[in-house]
Amino acid sequence: MDLLESAHRTPIGGDRRDAEAILGDVFGFQAFRPGQEEIVRAVAAGAEVLGVMPTGGGKSLCYQLPALMRPGVTIVVSPLIALMRDQVSALRALGIAAAAVNSNNDSAENRRILARAVEGEIKLLYISPERLSSVETIEALRDAPITMMAVDEAHCVSQWGHDFRPEYRLLGEVRRDLDIHQTVAFTATADKITRDDIAERLFSGQPKVFVRSFDRPNISLAMTARQDGRAELTRFLKAHEGESGIIYCQSRRRVDETAQFLVAKGLRAVPYHAGLERTERDKNQDIFLREDGVIVVATVAFGMGVDKPDVRFVFHMDMPKNIESYYQEIGRAGRDGLPATAHALYGFGEIRQFRQWIEGSETTPEQKAVEHAKVNALVSLCEAPTCRRVVLLGYFGEQSEPCGNCDLCGGKVETFDATVLAQKALSAVARTRERFGVEHLINVLRGETSDKIVQHGHDKLPTFGVGKDQSKSSWRSIFRQLGVIGYAAADAERFGGWRLSEAGWRVLKGQEKVTLRKDALSLKDKTAKAAPDLPSDYDAALLERLRALRRTLADERSVPAYVIFSDRTLIEMAARVPMSLDEMRGLHGIGERKLADLAPAFLEEVRRHADG
Ligand code: ADP
Ligand code: ZN
Repeated sequence: MDLLESAHRTPIGGDRRDAEAILGDVFGFQAFRPGQEEIVRAVAAGAEVLGVMPTGGGKSLCYQLPALMRPGVTIVVSPLIALMRDQVSALRALGIAAAAVNSNNDSAENRRILARAVEGEIKLLYISPERLSSVETIEALRDAPITMMAVDEAHCVSQWGHDFRPEYRLLGEVRRDLDIHQTVAFTATADKITRDDIAERLFSGQPKVFVRSFDRPNISLAMTARQDGRAELTRFLKAHEGESGIIYCQSRRRVDETAQFLVAKGLRAVPYHAGLERTERDKNQDIFLREDGVIVVATVAFGMGVDKPDVRFVFHMDMPKNIESYYQEIGRAGRDGLPATAHALYGFGEIRQFRQWIEGSETTPEQKAVEHAKVNALVSLCEAPTCRRVVLLGYFGEQSEPCGNCDLCGGKVETFDATVLAQKALSAVARTRERFGVEHLINVLRGETSDKIVQHGHDKLPTFGVGKDQSKSSWRSIFRQLGVIGYAAADAERFGGWRLSEAGWRVLKGQEKVTLRKDALSLKDKTAKAAPDLPSDYDAALLERLRALRRTLADERSVPAYVIFSDRTLIEMAARVPMSLDEMRGLHGIGERKLADLAPAFLEEVRRHADG
């Protein structure tokens, strides 16, 4: 029986059904994720809701499940065809009557889908805002039994958000034209201005607002000062063999070079950036989505609309330009709630570059000040002396306790009494009369006789050569940290010459002690916190076989592997080794439909494995 076609004929949820029952029977989930249940209940009760949840928090379920609890059609507004396509195929695999109207279909197909929506044969109808607001669509849907309109990526309606799309502004009119009584909207955008703007533009009154914590506890966080990017990447990938992941680079050229470097090492890596032909870009994105264990090397052009749940790592070869971007990019890892890793490299060079871009941009001084403040916040995150997650969440206005799942909590970053080193560095600043940049100061400390040193007579200073015992890069790290803590800072008006702060003078006079981090250069152990109830004791060989079977089935049906079963489902199978369909029931992700449609094939594979 064809899985996808049969979904058309058996719409689920023609009557009211209990939320919990649908969660288990249809979606195959044992429990709601934090925050989901209250939203589901509010939506199912007919409330207008604005849900703010981090990426991977499980927003889709918050409207999909209520859509099944009640009669009628739910219209889902989604900005990207790729997003719609993946959501629709995932829903159909669960036996839910979902369809998308978009330019991938011919117009006859689109008309047919709209007609079926009018007949109430479709529960979830995905559509882009521009198509939904067109006269033809409005006419076609006039008699449809619309229960609610769910707006995905709702920040697109706001100019304050990072991805404004004017078409979203038409949705208020659509609501009036089609006389839709319930609108629900979801976004992962954190800040209050955007949130208020969404509430005002999409809703007729004040919606119920639900804001979930922005913490993504399953993503372990690490950052290191870049020494040799490729060596660090290689080391990192060794610890993450066979995993799907994203490597972000700042420029197209670096993307191409890095991808080539990895391919030459025999890894399955594909490049993605706006300079590639559209067809190649799409092809590479598809490979990443559909195959297991592919690495995509990309610029920030990659990501929006990619909701692959089993991305296991995000590695930043170059620093993103602010914390918002960083948070958004690492958020693409571990949406399935299983352990994932975010590792970023940073360097003084790119931070200086950000500052130059800001200075060179044609904006108001106020805007520049805001941008500089964002860079400062980013630097503080990089050089955080305590839990990185506390700093990250603090940026979004959340207070938290040390997380135990970052490089700093993991004790991988050691600190030491650096008072003497700091005095040497600060003395170099003072003795050269606060007019020189870091590189020159380091040369003074290390006793290098360059022309510039001789010309200024700096080889005669008492500080000259007192820092021979430290390498250039450790001096850079020391200066960076002194800068972050606020003992000294580069003065842009004086061509980047470093100046001491009052605290800096106190250190120099021996009135204050300085504690610095020995820089974290080791990427060896990953202390990824296991998902609380994920079995750690499973049959690895069986898991391999199950993955292979998943691959085959996914190919046969041209859907991404995770649409068949998630990693968690396969891990649970490999741990519990079910010998009957009854034992399959109740595993994560196995609802009624998949129990009938997919479980038998996997059961057979388990038995074959058990027989040797
Ligand atoms: P986002 O909030 O980014 O839109 P999604 O709705 O795509 O997140 O959900 C992310 C992943 O979490 C999906 O693979 C989804 O199937 C899974 N998921 C959602 N809710 C639950 C749940 N209650 N239990 C287990 N997995 C869930
Ligand atoms: Zn921590």
